[in-house]
Amino acid sequence: MSSVKVNIPHIGKPRIVILGAGFGGLTLARKMAKSGYQVVLIDRNNYHQFQPLFYQVAMAGLEPSSISFPLRKVFRKNKNVFIRITTVTKVDTSSKQIYTTLGILSYDHLVIGIGADTNFFGNEDIAKNALPMKSVSEALYLRNEILNDYERALSTIDYHDRQELIDIVIVGGGPTGVEVAGALAEMKKFIIPKEYSEIDYGEIDIYLLQGGSRLLPGMSEVASEKAKKFLTGLGVIVKTNTRVTSVKNKRVYTKTGEEIPARKVIWAAGICANKLEGLNDDVIVNGRRIKVNGYSQVQGYEDIYAIGDVAAMISEENPYGHPQVAQVAIQQAKNLANNFNAKLKNKPMTEFEYKDLGSMATIGKNKAVVDLPRLKFQGFFAWLVWLVVHLFALIGTKNKLLVFFNWLLNYFTYDQSLRLIIRPFKRKIKD
Ligand SMILES: Cc1cc2nc3c(=O)[nH]c(=O)nc-3n(C[C@H](O)[C@H](O)[C@H](O)COP(=O)(O)OP(=O)(O)OC[C@H]3O[C@@H](n4cnc5c(N)ncnc54)[C@H](O)[C@@H]3O)c2cc1C
Repeated sequence: MSSVKVNIPHIGKPRIVILGAGFGGLTLARKMAKSGYQVVLIDRNNYHQFQPLFYQVAMAGLEPSSISFPLRKVFRKNKNVFIRITTVTKVDTSSKQIYTTLGILSYDHLVIGIGADTNFFGNEDIAKNALPMKSVSEALYLRNEILNDYERALSTIDYHDRQELIDIVIVGGGPTGVEVAGALAEMKKFIIPKEYSEIDYGEIDIYLLQGGSRLLPGMSEVASEKAKKFLTGLGVIVKTNTRVTSVKNKRVYTKTGEEIPARKVIWAAGICANKLEGLNDDVIVNGRRIKVNGYSQVQGYEDIYAIGDVAAMISEENPYGHPQVAQVAIQQAKNLANNFNAKLKNKPMTEFEYKDLGSMATIGKNKAVVDLPRLKFQGFFAWLVWLVVHLFALIGTKNKLLVFFNWLLNYFTYDQSLRLIIRPFKRKIKD
């Protein structure tokens, strides 16, 4: 860890350091860009990632650049916002400094918005052998693995060896698992017969394993049932009440005693908040989340806040904190921005109140399930709603147009041209 000071000029305004440019951190930085504060935005990547569409990158439906947005472009007109690309490791709350791989940086107010990572529940075999999808790079890796294995399957004579290459197991029946399963089923149905015609596509098995009794446990019963029906209609083997205990030797092992052969196991079974050292132990609660009060202030600290997936705002209504979804992060960021501005005017802060705008998941190209606060619907219209909501949530007009164009093309042709296997080429120095 470097002990040099990170060079950021002091501009005579109180400094808010925001850790993480995800849905929460980015929304807050944008809201504070023209405020009476100096904003320092820190992320390990120089771009914001739109996680809800990772699965489309993994399934070769979208280019990574269309769901990633460069941070410097967002703030090119805001001289009040200072961006540093570095990994944060620790906070020293007594000297009000954070430690990063670039060096040390001081803050007046600190906002932690570093989100969450894949949770393997401490199982080393699963962590080593399953494929997570929590970043654009992991989504791209998954794309390469899927395509690579289809290529290898073409030259594999033994039936069992071939099955290991072409079968895919998805673990976790939340929105990510359901969406990945739907997209893979469509790839099997529409792409494999055209481009890998030597593979008998009937041999490809796609499993979706869910530990609980129903898919999409965060949504209504009717959404769960319909999602299951849509997926089985597409040929996905859905198994509920099936807890995975290990992934090794190219096999998935379940608590019910099943062994499913597969080289590719996509792990979408849970998340755990990213770690930041230096806070009191008693503020770290379930899923490593940081306990905050109704103003997003970390318990016991006046000047440290946490928002989004990393925060647990525990109340009677939400005994485990709010759901870890984009809307919570965005709404908490907006509320915090208003409170920072109120502070400057010596006005009281307002407690956060979550407005649930609903949830949705898409299954393949024509179907989705949507739960709005007063209305639940499924099928084609739900899919159109899903499409519009996700398109408008993307940052930047260029990204919106790129995604729209890709979806349009894909809808009519059932085709995309993104199935490239991109990997480093090892050069021979000596013959
Ligand atoms: C595959 C997938 C699909 C999803 N689909 C949906 C959906 O359909 N609808 C929905 O509402 N939600 C969805 N979510 C959840 C949603 O993306 C999160 O709830 C949301 O991103 C949380 O926002 P955040 O700002 O708290 O964290 P994030 O958006 O995760 O941002 C955290 C940021 O912190 C940075 N960071 C992390 N650690 C460090 C560090 N040590 N140093 C520096 N920077 C760091 C990261 O690079 C990242 O930019 C999905 C998530 C995934 C993974």
